[in-house]
Amino acid sequence: LNRSLAEFGTTIFAEMSALAVRTGAINLGQGFPDTDGPEEIREAAVRALRDGRGNQYPPGPGVPELRTAIAAHQERRYGLAFDPDTEVLVTAGATEAIAAALLALLEPGDEVVALEPYYDSYAACIAMAGGRRVPVTLRPDGDAFRLDLDELRAAVTDRTRLLLVNTPHNPTGTVLTRAELAAVAELAVERDLLVVTDEVYEHLVFDGAEHLPLASFPGMRERTVTIGSAGKTFSFTGWKVGWVTAAPGLVTAVRSAKQYLTYVASGPFQYAVAEALALPESYFAAFRADMLAKRDLLAAGLAEAGFGVFRPTGTYFVTTDVRPLGESDGVAFCRALPERAGVVAIPNAVFYDHREEGAPFVRFAFCKRTGVLEEAVRRLKALA
Ligand code: PMP
Ligand code: GLN
Repeated sequence: LNRSLAEFGTTIFAEMSALAVRTGAINLGQGFPDTDGPEEIREAAVRALRDGRGNQYPPGPGVPELRTAIAAHQERRYGLAFDPDTEVLVTAGATEAIAAALLALLEPGDEVVALEPYYDSYAACIAMAGGRRVPVTLRPDGDAFRLDLDELRAAVTDRTRLLLVNTPHNPTGTVLTRAELAAVAELAVERDLLVVTDEVYEHLVFDGAEHLPLASFPGMRERTVTIGSAGKTFSFTGWKVGWVTAAPGLVTAVRSAKQYLTYVASGPFQYAVAEALALPESYFAAFRADMLAKRDLLAAGLAEAGFGVFRPTGTYFVTTDVRPLGESDGVAFCRALPERAGVVAIPNAVFYDHREEGAPFVRFAFCKRTGVLEEAVRRLKALA
């Protein structure tokens, strides 16, 4: 294993899902739903397979139907117009989009300012690109985690090449506010930085929080690479269909890296996701309402079980504080939890460079059936 990757070992998601399988525990660790996405979209995938659409290499940028649907989605929801031919790129999930963007845009030694805790693949991909990550820590403030704009500003140096943003934010469930995003945008313009923004949870926002794409802020359209994914929005994490929208020069750059990673992926599923993106607003509203009910169930249950609970206004994760349970080390807590309670969770500390900042925080996924969440809560209450 080369030196840039050695520090990363096995991703926490694989480790914890394997632990769930081995112990038979309820898996509230890795974020994937236990109910598949819409029947009609699965049928659309079957039709594509049967009709021979996408069974051979699809076009490098993605099938035109999907690129057109992605552009239409961005226009309809956010009023952002992208040319499907030059400003949209289909990728093998958001994971490949992240990797390709960082590999394409970084020179060795470039600094990347990223929000901490960060999704684990950011750190590994920055390292593979020879970049240096500069984390800016989101800190607890009441029942949410917030970004300190002065710290963000102070993190930018002459070596900073890009800002890597994620909203709605995994693992904290924070949705960056208009004021926070405006400050990020101003900073990017002032220091002439590129921005890569991971918006895979764009449809999962609650309690009146609004997802605002960074690309919609003044001066951002030309410098922002926006990443989306069908995995989260349509509950098909195994299909690995993601995308990038950006100005032509940036899309060309990302595509240059992407073509040597997978070249293309997920042929028949691309056609099905094109149909999914055109689903009526009622689909997205029902999906959100369902996840909101699950959030409320799990958050209330965790609070009753004695955890400190941060109320997520986005994503399908709830971050907790284990200190009220008399614990201080989330990693040790999560390693023991399957045996102690028959539940798997993710220690947020693994998403921090400043490990001590994340030590007491533990993430639970609520994208599971009601009965599963209820059983998990029953088990966790027995911990006390
Ligand atoms: N970004 C974030 C913030 C995520 O939580 C995930 C996990 N789904 C991904 C990217 C990866 O998405 P995909 O499964 O589409 O590769
Ligand atoms: N995004 C999912 C999570 O945060 C996991 C994806 C993965 O396993 N890489 O839990």
